[in-house]
This record gives sequence, C-alpha cells and structure tokens, in this order.
Amino acid sequence: MTAELISVGTEILLGNIVNTNAAYLSEELALLGVNVYCQTTVGDNDKRLMKFFKEAFKRSDIVILGGGLGPTEDDLTKETVCKALEIGLVEDEKAKSNMESILTGLGYVPSENNYKQAMVPEDAIVMYNNNGTAPGMIIEKNGHTAILLPGPPNEMIPMFKEYVVPYIKSKTTEVLHSVTIKECGIGESLLETMLLDLIDGQTNPTIATYAKTGCSEVRITAKASSLKEAKELIKPLKKEIIKRLGDAVYTTKAEENLEEAVVKLLKKHGLTLATAESCTGGLVASKIVNVPGASEVFENGFVTYSNKAKHKMLNVSKNTLQEYTAVSKETAKEMAIGCKKAAKSDVAVAVTGYAGPDDTPKEPKGLVYIACAIKEKIVVKEFKLNGNRDKIRENAAIRALNLVRCEISAEYK
Ligand code: ATP
Ligand code: MG
Repeated sequence: MTAELISVGTEILLGNIVNTNAAYLSEELALLGVNVYCQTTVGDNDKRLMKFFKEAFKRSDIVILGGGLGPTEDDLTKETVCKALEIGLVEDEKAKSNMESILTGLGYVPSENNYKQAMVPEDAIVMYNNNGTAPGMIIEKNGHTAILLPGPPNEMIPMFKEYVVPYIKSKTTEVLHSVTIKECGIGESLLETMLLDLIDGQTNPTIATYAKTGCSEVRITAKASSLKEAKELIKPLKKEIIKRLGDAVYTTKAEENLEEAVVKLLKKHGLTLATAESCTGGLVASKIVNVPGASEVFENGFVTYSNKAKHKMLNVSKNTLQEYTAVSKETAKEMAIGCKKAAKSDVAVAVTGYAGPDDTPKEPKGLVYIACAIKEKIVVKEFKLNGNRDKIRENAAIRALNLVRCEISAEYK
C-alpha cells in the first residue's frame, strides 16, 4: 500500500512551525507497512492545493492531508478536496453538536463560520474530534482514499490512533510487527559493522538502526499473515542481535528509555543513587527524577560547578584540583567518593568535563570524566564527546546513566 502526505499551511512553508506531523505520520505509517513515497507542503492556496491533491490522489493509494480544517477563510482543505473529487458536503449532526458544546462550554456563541466545520463530504467516514471542533474525514473514491486530519498535533495524533490506524489495518491482510533493541555505549558505526551481514542479507524481517544521542536502537520488523507468524520470524534474529551486542543492550521495550532502565535496576537490587555533576549541571539528576517512582531510589543530587563547591560539598581535595584540574580522572573519582559519603547512598555517579563551545588552552571541548562508586568499587572513564555544548552535556548525562547501569549489572552478575 502506498501513501503520501500533503501538509497544508503557509506557516509551514514560511518556517514558522516545524512539520512535526509529517514526521509522526511517516514513522507511524512505516510501522503499519505503508510505503510513504512523497511528502508535499502547500500554502493555504486552493489552486495549488487542488493541483497537488489531484496528482497525489492519482498516483497513491492513500493521500493524507493535514491542516486547514479550521473555521476560518484560509482553512480550505475539505472544500478543495471535495471539489477535486466532485463530492458534495452534508451537515453531520454529531460533528455539529460536538462543535456547539465545545464553544458554548468556553462561553462562545458559534458563528456562521463554525458551522462550516459541521459539514462533511457525502458518504465519508467521519472521525470525531475529542480534542477540538474540526472532525476529520476518510473519503474513498475510485479505489483511492483521501484522509483529512486537523493540523494541531494534540488533535491529529489521537484521531490518527483512534480511526486511521484501524482503517489502514482493515485494508491490509498483512500484519507488521516490530521489536526494538536499545543499546548504549557501542556507537552508531560500530553497531552497523557488528550487524552488517544481517543488515545486508535482510528481506523479511528487515533491520534498521537509529542513532540517538549517546545510544542507538535496532528495530527488527517482520511482515506476515498473522502476529504469531511475524513474532516467529523475528525471534531468531532478535536473539542473535542481543547476543552480538551483549551487555550494551539495556532494554528490548520500545517505550523504555535509559533512565527508566536504570531506576528499574536500582529498585531491583534495593540500591539508592546520588549524583555529583559539574558540566551536566543537574541533567543526570533531572533525567532520573523524570522517571515516576524515582523517589524510592534517588537520594541526592549535587551540582558542583566551581572548584570551591567541589571541595566544600564533595570534599574533593584542593591539591587534586590544583594538580590535576577540575576535569580529570582524579577529580571525578573524588567527586563520586565524596558524593556517596555525603548522600549516604549505595551508588554515586560523578561527571566533570569541558562542554565547550570553545576548546580550553590545554584540552579539547568534549573531554569528560565520569566516575561511578558502588560499594567499595570505583570506576572512572574518560570520554571524548562531539557536538555543541548542548549535545556534549546530553551525551555526558547519557554516558553517566549508562555507567551506573553497567556497574550495577557487573556487581550483581
Ligand atoms: P485550526 O482549527 O486550529 O485552524 P486546522 O486543522 O485548520 O486547525 P491549521 O490551521 O493548518 O489546522 O493549523 C493549526 C495549528 O496546528 C498550527 O498553528 C500549528 O500550531 C499546528 N500545525 C498545523 N500543521 C502542523 C504540522 N504539519 N506539524 C505540526 N503542527 C502543525
Ligand atoms: Mg486553521
């Protein structure tokens, strides 16, 4: 099944908003086994929209249009599509009462314009909007389908999940199933090399790698006539990839991130964590605190940016700071030891480094030391990270979480 996207909105063309809807839809459609061959963006102009839509409708099974379903003059997607397909508009009672109740609830009297939103193409499947006044529509004609979705992502995404996903699934006899293997520490290019023979030989299932800051994901996707069959196809490949990537794999759950995996591990072993951060300025602590239930395992976070703070709060010796500087193996080690002691935690992680933007006279930006203290053991790692200040800080925080994960796993092997 082939699909293409038409994003409608002058704001997108002018760069005033980022087309996150297209990214979302493309990713979701790929997961459904739909091939997206083309993405177009067109301004709020009926003539150009008409031209693009007609071409798209001819060449693709499904054309998904986003935006321009609002009540104002420049919202013209529905009218243009209906004109192109020579379909009339009729009033939809449910869409009308939904619009009326939302607007009166907000204290507005619906204007004539608002009633425009209650009009839907004849014989269309109407997608009612739980988060706004504009209904979406699915229109079938001559073996092709046009799907009209509202522009605001908080309206579009729930509507897509509720109506479009089941609609597309009902049109295909194939089941598409994916599993995700997430790793941290190997790096994108080495990861590809490690899996190259598998990637090269792929047909069904397919393997794709995605690089994220500091981590990567491997997605295995299989097409089959049933979910059971798709899972069976994936099974041996998943096992092989996990074997090759070894301890770098932190989860095989698509929705689980690294900090969640770390919190889970801490809980599993009844351990508490404390953090001591210089260049990451609290980013590691913030990631941990983002995980619901982190209070069970997170003891304390120190942000010690200056040498004075490192000495005062973490008891890093003045000699160490002077002799080896704040960005050194020795300082990272003393930060972790001091942090663990001050917080009375089971595990402590410390980060110190140069985040840039400029290189220092002696060392390049991106030089980061991360130390992890667990029980009596202490490990310090040196990293040379790339990118701008934000990227280096983010990457350092990820590496710190990963070091905690690796050290706990090693301790409890
Ligand atoms: P409304 O009823 O709000 O007018 P609409 O369906 O007519 O909705 P648009 O007017 O095209 O949609 O866009 C409304 C808002 O939705 C935009 O200002 C923008 O914030 C968001 N939006 C629209 N299209 C996209 C897109 N492709 N990606 C991300 N956000 C979008
Ligand atoms: Mg609009």
